[in-house]
Amino acid sequence: MMETVNMKINGMPITVPKNYTILQAAREAGFNIPTLCYLKEINEIGACRVCVVEVKGARSLVAACVYPVSEGLEVSTNSLKVQKSRRTTLELILSNHDRRCLSCSRSGECELQILCREYGVEVEHRFDGANPRVELDASTDYLVRDNNKCILCRRCVGACAAQTTGVIGVNDRGFDTNIGCAFNTELGNVPCVGCGQCIVNCPTGALQEKDDTTKVWDALQDESKYVIVHTAPSIRATLGECFKMPIGTNVKGKMVAALRRLGFDKVFDTDFGADLTIMEEANEFIERVQNGGKLPMITSCSPGWINYCEHYFPDMLDNLSTCKSPQQMTGAMIKTWYAEQNGLDPKDIVVVSIMPCTAKKYEIHRADQDAAGYPDIDIVLTTRELARMINRAHINFTDLPDEEFDPALGITTGAGAIFGATGGVMEAALRTAADWITGKDLSVIDYYTDVRGTDGIKTATYDIKDLTIKVGVASGLANAKELLNRVREGEHFDFIEIMCCPGGCVNGGGQPLQPSSIYNFTDLKTKRAKALYDEDKELPIRKSHKSPIIEKLYKEYLEKPGSHKAHELLHTSYSAKVKPVK
Ligand code: SF4
Ligand code: SF4
Ligand code: SF4
Repeated sequence: MMETVNMKINGMPITVPKNYTILQAAREAGFNIPTLCYLKEINEIGACRVCVVEVKGARSLVAACVYPVSEGLEVSTNSLKVQKSRRTTLELILSNHDRRCLSCSRSGECELQILCREYGVEVEHRFDGANPRVELDASTDYLVRDNNKCILCRRCVGACAAQTTGVIGVNDRGFDTNIGCAFNTELGNVPCVGCGQCIVNCPTGALQEKDDTTKVWDALQDESKYVIVHTAPSIRATLGECFKMPIGTNVKGKMVAALRRLGFDKVFDTDFGADLTIMEEANEFIERVQNGGKLPMITSCSPGWINYCEHYFPDMLDNLSTCKSPQQMTGAMIKTWYAEQNGLDPKDIVVVSIMPCTAKKYEIHRADQDAAGYPDIDIVLTTRELARMINRAHINFTDLPDEEFDPALGITTGAGAIFGATGGVMEAALRTAADWITGKDLSVIDYYTDVRGTDGIKTATYDIKDLTIKVGVASGLANAKELLNRVREGEHFDFIEIMCCPGGCVNGGGQPLQPSSIYNFTDLKTKRAKALYDEDKELPIRKSHKSPIIEKLYKEYLEKPGSHKAHELLHTSYSAKVKPVK
């Protein structure tokens, strides 16, 4: 039985588990204690002093995020002394802060700004720090660091360490303290994998994705361009959060309607590319199993993971599937097959991807990603950037009718839909591989469900005809590292799925921001993933190889999975990377 303690929060008696902190206990009693540096399991350092509370009998205020509960504890979370302390802390933070909220990308969602408003902090206030202006780090394709807005909370450092990349940390001391890479090296010159987990965990405007919305507005205005947009499976499960809709609302129809109103010539579903990836990947897997190829085969959809593998596990590059990601396959087919079918010159097509992921902005510049002789994808926007465009166009998102994707590349299958959740690629691949191995249209679809859920590592063994296939699924790079080390140590797996971000794309670095008051107490990954599994359940086609677009594509153009043409257009290669420190 769980040990508990009896205590009082703001005079209210409450019984809570003995291992709770005051922060957790207060939440159970119905009180939110504000936090800035605290991130559950990632940054529990009690440093920012915003969560201070009064404990009866204690000489000074204590940090609720790290202070343990005990029998008889009496806590005031909102006394005048507490309020005054929090206000002074905020004033001190602001004394060294670039307070230009009007032009800040985070304005309206900034946890610092919201707290300052709640505690009545004036912009012109009693303290004034040195306020030195420092240059932005915009050295990568995907991220901008503005340390003028950094509050030294170290949440980004914790997020990066949790990914086992650890490329950012605290530099210098005293007033010169700053967050960055060792020796103040630019981010573009260290083995950052581009996951963006530092961005989604930053409470202020100090970190954001590199904004590419201007490029899209320009393309939409250019009459010589045919602008096609496609949306990754997970976007429909998260975009609604940017418009204050409940977490886990599937907004597919409204998203399509909004994109059409923004002026895109065609609105396609990246599920098409996901299905195509399954065709090529399942075929590659069966070939490797039957012909003694390199096993385990490891999925290649997640560019942050590919980047990590190239930097940190170069001995496993031959294990990677050679398939391009669904984003790149979609672009490749738009600029070749679709262009030919519709009399379009690929040089006049601009393909815009809406992605959950900042690393996708880096992926489009990788070698080999130009099937038609032009980049497969021209511009990548995150979910947040799309919301920014919808807001700037003053589209009433929540009032929009549901609309369908354009037909040519707009069929959503259940297999494609679940790509956005950890385990989804594996499950989709097994649905197709099992049909092909047995030569039957197997009727039980929900069979490979052991790989669902947000556990960091999941394993399962399936018997398919005369084969026994052991699969592994890892999300988040710490889990990937653990699973790959098991492989290095000799544990046998046939097929492994790895997603760079914990929980998969639904929790990607380009997804909507949630304040720590939600992040620390809500299972975001499960709620968002549920929207995708619910969609899968409802769809008439749930296997990639049953999609009529996919059947037509192979019949008319690619011949068969793994054909010479498919290899030319849809596959890629990898190389070991160790970036020099300049
Ligand atoms: S980081 Fe927050 S407080 Fe600072 S300028 Fe941006 S919105 Fe304002
Ligand atoms: S993008 Fe990922 S790897 Fe790069 S600094 Fe941020 S958390 Fe670290
Ligand atoms: S960049 Fe953001 S998350 Fe990192 S220390 Fe600064 S404010 Fe905190």
